[in-house]
Amino acid sequence: MWKKIGVFLLGILVILLSICGVRYFLSKSIQPNVATQADIPVRDSALSIFQKGIQYQTISYDTLPPDSIAFTQFQQFLAEKFPLVFQHLEKETFEKYTLLLKWKGTLANDSPIVLMAHQDVVPVDPLSLSHWKSEPFGGKIIGDTLYGRGSVDDKFCLFAILEATEMLLQQGFQPKRNIFLVFGHNEEKLGSGVATLVDSLQKRNIHPKWVLDEGGEFTETVPGLKGRKVALIGTSEKGYLSVQLKVDMEGGHSSMPAQQTAIDVLIAAIQNIRTHPFPAGFNSSMIGFMDYLGPEMSATNKFFVTNRWLFNSLLLKIYRKSAPGNSLIRTSIAPTIIQSGTKENVIPNIATATVNLRIAPGTTIQQALQHLQKSANDSRVSITPIGIGKEASNITDTRSEGFTHLTMCIQENYDSVLVSPYLMIGATDGRKFETICKNVVRFSPVTDLKGMHGINERVGIDEFKKGIGLYYRILKEAQ
Ligand SMILES: [Zn+2]
Repeated sequence: MWKKIGVFLLGILVILLSICGVRYFLSKSIQPNVATQADIPVRDSALSIFQKGIQYQTISYDTLPPDSIAFTQFQQFLAEKFPLVFQHLEKETFEKYTLLLKWKGTLANDSPIVLMAHQDVVPVDPLSLSHWKSEPFGGKIIGDTLYGRGSVDDKFCLFAILEATEMLLQQGFQPKRNIFLVFGHNEEKLGSGVATLVDSLQKRNIHPKWVLDEGGEFTETVPGLKGRKVALIGTSEKGYLSVQLKVDMEGGHSSMPAQQTAIDVLIAAIQNIRTHPFPAGFNSSMIGFMDYLGPEMSATNKFFVTNRWLFNSLLLKIYRKSAPGNSLIRTSIAPTIIQSGTKENVIPNIATATVNLRIAPGTTIQQALQHLQKSANDSRVSITPIGIGKEASNITDTRSEGFTHLTMCIQENYDSVLVSPYLMIGATDGRKFETICKNVVRFSPVTDLKGMHGINERVGIDEFKKGIGLYYRILKEAQ
């Protein structure tokens, strides 16, 4: 009897391994495999203009209006340094500082291609100043690296796009399709500059063919592809929601604490929420990631990734182990603020906490709220959203022209680079185009976004020059 069971199980194992083996050997590269071309030479002045651009303190503070002097002077500077762009492209502004520059193509009445970046940057924490290698708004070059707030996020893209456009205009180039350059001014405070612009386009019945915004980046740390440069292209974006947990119950003198105080109840609720995570799963951007990169991986990784049908749980378990990995497979929950009490010998009546969620595609804000309420599991805890929140984005098809054109241009511009769709954890302005365009792709040609939003934000000089070449190809070869 046992022998029969043993033979049966062995048979199953052999069948499973055979299927895995077949899938492993049959898995084919779906990389565009486009030949790399010679570098595009850029203007000598490109770098110094970028450096100077860093010096304009176009900062978005959460609670303050934009600095009108900084934004006005920054835009005057752009007009001065990119004269052909501002002469040939038709300019419109929204909410004063969000820019739309329209480059007319030779085809009539077509749907435009949109290239985006944002003008604003996050503030620099004054307490961190001593840790900066050079003044955050100096735009100084040390060795082969340019330092400064915005050098990565997102003046890099803004100046690279403008440089490429200026070069093409100098060469007398005219695009086939209309090209729209969109430079928002309040992306870093989740402002509505680009949303207002999109509303206006919608009213004019303009539906872009595809949109490219900042987003994914180059990395060399994909497991199984150590040392290989991979361009991660955001094809979807997580949603955003903050909620307030509030407990309101009787307080009193700290010498006679009740069995449970407001603070106890709140802490227990937070723990309940944290120990009941949202379900894990790979969304189609992440499945695309495995399809694009699995066949390129070293043997062991390739075996598991190309046999996701069998090893899905194991792969999810591996992702769960690290904080960045875990955030790619589920809605994340992070308590960020906790408040209660005013005096050491008084038990407070009220205790509140703020919890921030990044909502995975496939989950709605409504479902997320229900999940929190259920896992808090205490009717004394009220859970209410703070602000409106943002649903997770649509998922851009990797067969769409935006994705295929971008991946082709990346491989033309960069040697031996792999491309892949990816889920963006952060939010971008590009998502606002979703109401009028299904194909939004997100990519910044920077490696590992060094110092973004933090200390010593910086970028390699060569990386900037290469980035101009990428946008040049994207604009010149767009159909
Ligand atoms: Zn940004």
